[in-house]
Amino acid sequence: MRPAAWPGESGELRAMDPARDAILKKAAVKPRNISENEVKSLLSIDGGEDLDALFSAAYAVKALAVGKSVAFRGLVEAGNVCAKDCLYCGIRKSNGKVARYSMTADEIVACAEFAAREGYGSLVIQSGEIEGEAHTRFIEDVLGRIHHLGLGVTLSLGEQTEEVYARWKAAGAARYLLRIETSNPELYARLHPASHSWERRVECLRALRRCGYQVGTGVMAGLPGQTLTDLARDIVFFGEIDADMIGMGPFIPHEDTPLGNPSLPSPALTSAAPPSKEDRLLLGLRMIAVTRLYLHDVNIAAATALQALADDGRERGLLAGANVIMPNITDVKYRRSYQLYEGKPCLDEEAAQCRACLRMRIAAIGETIAFGRHGDSPHFRNRQ
Ligand code: SAM
Ligand code: SF4
Repeated sequence: MRPAAWPGESGELRAMDPARDAILKKAAVKPRNISENEVKSLLSIDGGEDLDALFSAAYAVKALAVGKSVAFRGLVEAGNVCAKDCLYCGIRKSNGKVARYSMTADEIVACAEFAAREGYGSLVIQSGEIEGEAHTRFIEDVLGRIHHLGLGVTLSLGEQTEEVYARWKAAGAARYLLRIETSNPELYARLHPASHSWERRVECLRALRRCGYQVGTGVMAGLPGQTLTDLARDIVFFGEIDADMIGMGPFIPHEDTPLGNPSLPSPALTSAAPPSKEDRLLLGLRMIAVTRLYLHDVNIAAATALQALADDGRERGLLAGANVIMPNITDVKYRRSYQLYEGKPCLDEEAAQCRACLRMRIAAIGETIAFGRHGDSPHFRNRQ
């Protein structure tokens, strides 16, 4: 199952196009040391030795800036009820084929206890977007009940008011992940109903920073209509917003959504339509590598979507510069109902099985797992 050479394994720079080589060397000197055009030039590497050199350079920066141990976050998919209708998402409000569920507080607490017992050190609670006092209190209650476990808690519960973010922070959440999805407002408008606002999403990211969270954002790569210029701009946006954590992954069509046709053209994917899984995966890996080279000391997750495209997708994410993995610890009875895209992996695998499998996979690439640690973003610590 192990390919002859995984990207980044050697940790050495290989011979490559001299102009790109110069950009790689410049990027490695310090964060944000290259221009948006140079970011785009690195993103446009789509194969051969240059690609291997890109991954190797990103891996070398990762090793220096955040180390080679992988932080684990137990992922709880707490519910698929969503008030929104993002055109790409399998659990969007209008998808009538989805069996809706909301985990009880006891069920979420049980997941947190499992994560603590397994030494995961941190937890992500993610769900569809729900606003309102009852939901705000529900999350406060859960946070209060898991506080004594000492986990680093990340929330990913969508757009909320600043007051709600502040209440959840006071109740014990330390980090918040809210992907901007794309930094291009026009593209955002084509991927969402008119009622969804890119400006509000940016304002939410600012509110999260004011509330003192470690702030995470990210995008999908390979969206219909998305160009490499958009993706280069996304990476510069992460720097402008001064993100502490990046959670991004390849876009994967879901057949029950308006963007479910796999042949919809994405200029960022240079291959013929429909793009292959490997094309989508490689674009996701290039985004990880160039983001690492641009930002250096942030946490970057190897998203589950990478594993949906290739069995070893997450390991390849780690070797391209990611340093966080989010094993799914949701009860298997809910997993089929939280399918954002086609081909979600580990639908029937209990959390304990995931742990054993991941341990083996991570050891195979020569990295270790930071058991029992919060795995805070070094960028956040450095800013403090
Ligand atoms: N509802 C919250 C929100 O949107 O911020 C959090 C949960 S939402 C399901 C988490 C992420 O899933 C989104 O930010 C989006 O980037 C990603 N996602 C949704 N549909 C996807 C698809 N078809 N392919 C890849 N990622 C997808
Ligand atoms: Fe809801 Fe998030 Fe999916 Fe949008 S991406 S439909 S907000 S769950």
